[in-house]
Amino acid sequence: MGERLAIISDIHANLPALDAVLEDARRQGVERLACLGDVVGYGADPAACVEAVRSVCAFTLRGNHDHGLFEDTDRFSPPARRALEWTRRNLPPAGSSWLRRLPSRREEGDTLHVHGSPRDPIHEYLYETEARTAAREGPGGPTARKLAECFREVRRVCFVGHTHRPGVLTEGLAWHSPRPPGDRFRLGLQRAIINVGSVGQPRDRDRRASYVIFDGREVLFRRVPYAWQSAMDRILSNPALDRWLALRLEQGV
Ligand code: ZN
Repeated sequence: MGERLAIISDIHANLPALDAVLEDARRQGVERLACLGDVVGYGADPAACVEAVRSVCAFTLRGNHDHGLFEDTDRFSPPARRALEWTRRNLPPAGSSWLRRLPSRREEGDTLHVHGSPRDPIHEYLYETEARTAAREGPGGPTARKLAECFREVRRVCFVGHTHRPGVLTEGLAWHSPRPPGDRFRLGLQRAIINVGSVGQPRDRDRRASYVIFDGREVLFRRVPYAWQSAMDRILSNPALDRWLALRLEQGV
């Protein structure tokens, strides 16, 4: 068994969720942490989340929201755009320049890490429904071609975030939905793209924070309860942040 690496993603400025995950990872005895991006956006505590991720993660990648801080925000929904504009005004310069320098991919041996997809690391989504769509369309279809292009970038395994929905996509076009908190997926001969889910804004109707621990052979899916009401209150008491961004935390959507 190799080093145990905790992989977190999509914190989205949710400090109670981040604190709970970091505490869980400590209790699980992980040796190193990595973050696949979207440290900011949506939530009320961007500066504190940037500080915490910066100090504990061995590497952090650039998510589309981190990227959006320094680009124009046209492609974001109005609530996401307003949250980014508020975040820009409320990040200390050190945090902001750290975010600006984040790389978009990281390779460690035969493991690739990105925020979105292996072929488009910042922006592209890979949804669980695409395995079925690709199988239905057949090998010449657009979804099958997209997934084939993604797997071409993967030597053995690729970790992603971005959709906020954890699970495993294999190159044989099967999707494995984890049954947390202790579900394990063992890497086999097939290459796999593994979505670690979201710490700060899960969207699979389970409001607990999501992350994984990887030991080089096996992926352990963790779900961690946290004080979601306090994350909600922090958003609701901030006039720059849309109410929906708080309400969705309760439902996990
Ligand atoms: Zn995100």
